[in-house]
Amino acid sequence: MNALVENWRLEPQRDRQAELSVVIPLYNEHEVITLMHARLTAVLAGLDMPYELVLVDDGSRDGTPNTMHQLAQADPSVTAVFLSRNFGKEAALTAGLAHAAGEAVIIMDADLQDPPELIPHMLRAWKDGADVVCMRRRSRAGESWFKRYSAHGFYRLLNAISDVDIPADTGDFRLLSRKAVDALNRLNERNRYMKGLFAWIGLPTTVIEYDRKPRAAGVTKWDYLSLFNLAFEGITSFSTAPLRLAMAGGLLTAFFGVLFTLWIVAKALVLGDPVQGYPSLICMITILGGVQLLSIGLLGEYVGKTYYETKQRPVYLVRQVVSQGRTASPTANAHAGTATAANEPYASYK
Ligand code: UDP
Ligand code: MG
Repeated sequence: MNALVENWRLEPQRDRQAELSVVIPLYNEHEVITLMHARLTAVLAGLDMPYELVLVDDGSRDGTPNTMHQLAQADPSVTAVFLSRNFGKEAALTAGLAHAAGEAVIIMDADLQDPPELIPHMLRAWKDGADVVCMRRRSRAGESWFKRYSAHGFYRLLNAISDVDIPADTGDFRLLSRKAVDALNRLNERNRYMKGLFAWIGLPTTVIEYDRKPRAAGVTKWDYLSLFNLAFEGITSFSTAPLRLAMAGGLLTAFFGVLFTLWIVAKALVLGDPVQGYPSLICMITILGGVQLLSIGLLGEYVGKTYYETKQRPVYLVRQVVSQGRTASPTANAHAGTATAANEPYASYK
């Protein structure tokens, strides 16, 4: 069956014969998608192993979905997954992994910052027995010094306080074995800080260093606020150290508060010094108030996370999957129009 079939399965379909899957999340990548496809195909065609490209459209508002449709029609190795709206890169990656069929799955950005030419090296490490091949950035060309240093500092901080060992300076560019992908697909938490999840699964890991290139075209989708949010998400998803820090801060202030009180009382009793200091009082109240509000906010962050987890909403919704040589099964048709299966964490719908 070679006709183009659009299906809307409730479960991702993995009946393809690919040994290698390359998963790419795309959000408004119109300017780079054709170039990316050409460069990637040039590398993959030389590999002598059956491969597929899983392109995930994360609710793009430019020409990306159109181009993806064209690619899926022209190239039998392309599977185009369209999410129902912009869910964010982490969700798009989750969707891509759920739809990947390969024994080895490579994740890379659409903008060619992760050079496809490194794929043969990654495969070699995989064949040598690694379940995870992390790509560590030796340099990050085309990115501001602030981004470089803040990312560097963030990874160090996260590692120091989190329960899992997250390799420093590695992004999402990596290879995962089928075992690792199956493990990731089973983690159904909604707060998906992928770098943390990658680290959580463990498994034999090889690290390869590379030079990160500037974007081939288009603009970055991350501003500093969203990077800060991602960093905060990473820390609060993988560590309760901030809560302990708040507690330590509370203990410390209480301790000094008691000392200060004792000193004031002693001074009043021994020296007959009348208690003075309206300004110091205001300072103390303001500082303490600030610390308290901060701690409550922090606590709220964790409570909010729990709240979202308990809703058990899917991480993403698939609007459509397009690829050649796929058939829509009768059961899938029967479900067309329904939203999600009750306990299918990564359900698709049409
Ligand atoms: N991306 C996505 N959803 C988003 C934001 C980004 O799928 O909401 C994709 C984007 O298309 C790209 C990858 O994530 O393939 C990395 O994004 P970008 O290059 O903008 O990030 P940077 O490299 O600047 O950190
Ligand atoms: Mg980029």
